Amino acid sequence: MNWFTRVRNSLGFSSQKKTTEKDLWIKCPSCQEMLFVQDYESNLSVCPKCEHHGRISADARLALLLDPGFELLPIPEVAEDPLQFKDTKKYTDRLKAARAASPHKDAFVVGSGFIETRPAVVGVQDFGFMGGSMGMAVGQAFCEGAQKALDRGCAYVVVTAAGGARMQEGILSLMQMPRTTVMTRRLKAAGLPYIVVLTDPTTGGVTASYAMLGDIHIAEPGALIGFAGQRVIQDTIREQLPEGFQRAEYLHKHGMVDMVVHRRELKATLGQLLDYLRPVKAA
Ligand SMILES: [Zn+2]
Repeated sequence: MNWFTRVRNSLGFSSQKKTTEKDLWIKCPSCQEMLFVQDYESNLSVCPKCEHHGRISADARLALLLDPGFELLPIPEVAEDPLQFKDTKKYTDRLKAARAASPHKDAFVVGSGFIETRPAVVGVQDFGFMGGSMGMAVGQAFCEGAQKALDRGCAYVVVTAAGGARMQEGILSLMQMPRTTVMTRRLKAAGLPYIVVLTDPTTGGVTASYAMLGDIHIAEPGALIGFAGQRVIQDTIREQLPEGFQRAEYLHKHGMVDMVVHRRELKATLGQLLDYLRPVKAA
């Protein structure tokens, strides 16, 4: 929703939202088919023609994976704009714009509850919020989610989607890589499962840290997963990259991902895995 629409709605000038053609139809970015928005959304934002998995919000993802009635952890308070960063825009302005368009204060949201009655904490990275980029708030939310799983003695499931580290926070964003890695080690030491669901796209510093440290890696079909971009790799090695390079199915074939799971099957698959991996209680 743009600024004008928001202001107009808040002032009550228009009580009835006008439905336009644009609201009703969406074009699949993969097969270009025009889809009825309602059909698309009721199909979990997966194209019914070609099975392309669209990006969904953190809230939609939590509702998809957790049983109803889960608890939403507060987004951590962190130092804002410590480097007073400015490129074409001020970082504070970019944050303001992202917050106006999102129900959350940053790109990582944690829900604590149950997946098919098995206790679990689920952390979700929202690509819609500044490209899901990992800054201090994301790192801190990840760690607090892991701590919640440690406190509850349950599994930690993390759904990744990110363009990488948040460049506006410089070295402080890169520091989130060792911080989150330490938390994955603590989960391991406590014998608690840590499962990663890789969604489109998962790249950069997120791939280079917690996204690749799971006990099990699940990817959604067609998801782009990698560290450096394809053009950078191609220009460096001066070779044509193979078909499907850095896509979920390619990584599965080459052993980087354990399974590629359709969004419709995701919750049931996680439920089953949590059964297999449930912490062993001392007799
Ligand atoms: Zn399609």
